[in-house]
Formats: sequence, structure tokens, C-alpha cells
Amino acid sequence: MPGIDGFEACRRLKANLLTSSIPIIFMTALADTENKIKGLSLGAVDYITKPFQEEEVLARIKVHLKLHFLTLKVMEQSAALQQANQQLMLLANLDGLTEVANRRRFDEYLEQQWQLQAQKQAPITLILGDLDYFKNYNDFYGHQAGDDCLKQVASALSLAAKRNSDLVCRYGGEEFALILPHTDCPGAIKVAEATIAEVQKLQIPHAQSLVSQYVTISLGISCQIPSSELSSKSAIAAADAALYQAKQQGRNRFYFERLCSQVKISER
Ligand code: GH3
Ligand code: MG
Ligand code: MG
Repeated sequence: MPGIDGFEACRRLKANLLTSSIPIIFMTALADTENKIKGLSLGAVDYITKPFQEEEVLARIKVHLKLHFLTLKVMEQSAALQQANQQLMLLANLDGLTEVANRRRFDEYLEQQWQLQAQKQAPITLILGDLDYFKNYNDFYGHQAGDDCLKQVASALSLAAKRNSDLVCRYGGEEFALILPHTDCPGAIKVAEATIAEVQKLQIPHAQSLVSQYVTISLGISCQIPSSELSSKSAIAAADAALYQAKQQGRNRFYFERLCSQVKISER
């Protein structure tokens, strides 16, 4: 070590990412406590004073190598565990069939955003969607085709809800939900129109539908600024009531409870 001492050599090895994890044992004539502490505080794992016994040095090296590899193994395992946990979290929130968010995630996100928008006194939109005459679809085309249709619709909905904060969920069966934080009434209508248009664009033949030759969706919209008296359940109830109206009024359309208006989307 020309020009530098053992302490400096240790400091440099520890400062370099390539060498920082190598265990360092000081072998030195400096036997006083202060120097031992200095070496250990620079990252050395052990300190042997000269003169030394070869057997002792080898035994200590063996111990530190064992410790070193055990540490590496634990680090590797904890990284793998962390990755598996993340994957598990992701899967716990996803619908297995359509790969959009599942009901669990819906409940969690709606509650979280409800609180957040209440604090900001900003509007939150909830759109509930239900495929039209989907029982007929399954009966006619088979359950497998029904599943495939649900997957395609889920992708179409994801195209309509574009913001990072928007969440598309499978609410259950052939029902979907869109949570649109910080979205006012005109915004809600825009997304509803886009949703219906994206589903129409798929042009999935539906010979047993009474409203179209293709698969269509009906939507119920709720848009409100959350208040402390209202729970997020009120948004679900309002969107559900609006969805019922959309079905009643003839399907393949959205209904907006708040404006008491319903808009028929003309077919292509
Ligand atoms: P409406 O226009 O009034 O909504 O009529 P609908 O036939 O869509 O409504 P209904 O609630 O009577 O039927 C829903 C059907 O959706 C029942 C079932 O055949 C189908 N369905 C629900 N979940 C799944 C699923 O996971 N896969 C498939 N393939 N079909 C499903
Ligand atoms: Mg339904
Ligand atoms: Mg339906």
C-alpha cells in the first residue's frame, strides 16, 4: 500500500460498489483500542494483531466468509420475497378473467378517493356499466365466448378512461365500474360517451340482442362532491339507480341521475 495506510485502503474498498461487500480483516501491529475501533468503524469485520497464529487467521477467515455468504443469501431471499409480495398484491387486486381491477380494489379505491375528494371538495364520478342482454349472449354463443367478450369489453373500457387516476373495475358478472376522481358532470358525460363508443367499436356480433346487432352496454352515472354526511355507498346507490333507468329507457345508453336526463347514443 504505497502512499496510503490500511485505514485508507479499507475506506476506499468500502467506498467502491464493486468491493464494498468484501469482508476486511485488519492484520496489524497497532494493538491499541483506538486503532481497533477506527478500523472496525471504517467497515472492517475483524481485527487481528501481530504476531498472529496462522490457524487463528484461517479460522477467523472461515467464520467471516460463512457470515458473508449467509448475509448474501438472506439479502437475496428478502429481495425475492419482496418481489413475490408485490406480485401477490397485484394479483389480489386484479380480476382473474378480465385483468382489470376487481371488486376488492373497487371498494378500497372508491373509499380512498371519496375521502380525498371530500377533503378537496372536488367532484368524483362513478359509472356503473352492465352489458345488455348478456344472458342471451351466453345462451346463444356459449360461456367461453361470453368470457372472451367480457375481456374485450374490459379493454375497451380501459381505452375510454384515460387518466392515470381513473380506475376500471369488474364489479361482478357482466357489470363493470369506472371510478373517475376529480371528474365533473361534463367530464363524466364525455367518458360515458367514449365508453359506449368503444364498446360499439368492438363490433362483437350479438344476434340475440333486442337493441343492436352488436354487444352494447348501459351505463348509470353518479357525479357528486363528497360531503361528510354522505358515504361512498351513496355514489353506488345513485349510479345503480341511474343504470336501472338506462335499462328501462331502452339500453345501449347512459343515464345521469343528477341532470335527470338520458341520452340515446345513435348506433352506427
Ligand atoms: P340486461 O340487459 O337487463 O342486463 O340483461 P342481461 O341478460 O345482461 O342480465 P342478467 O343479469 O339477466 O344476465 C347476466 C348474465 O351475465 C348472466 C350470465 O349468463 C352472464 N355472466 C355473468 N358473469 C359471467 C361470466 O363471468 N362469464 C360469462 N361468460 N357470463 C357471465
Ligand atoms: Mg347484470
Ligand atoms: Mg346485463
